[in-house]
Amino acid sequence: MQTRRERITELLESTAFPMTAEEICERLDIKSRSIVYEDIDHVSKSVKRREKELLIRPASCGKCQFAFKPRKTSKAPSKCPKCRSQWILAPAFLIRQRK
Ligand SMILES: [Zn+2]
Repeated sequence: MQTRRERITELLESTAFPMTAEEICERLDIKSRSIVYEDIDHVSKSVKRREKELLIRPASCGKCQFAFKPRKTSKAPSKCPKCRSQWILAPAFLIRQRK
């Protein structure tokens, strides 16, 4: 029986495209995105020990295309600092072998 974090790791290693927390929730039947964000912070640390890395496509504003800097936590921001829009395109994640 795999743990939830192991299943997330496996999914992000095998996916061809970066996945958002929402997509991960759907695929693995996880109730809330905040659980996924918290898990991803742990996954990000644990894959480093296996010569892999978590790649993050940062969140961006759907209105003005402002690109958020990668944050300390993987959680999506709620508002654009530039145009104050709340239409935020969520960050997406992928695990790849470290080069
Ligand atoms: Zn904006």
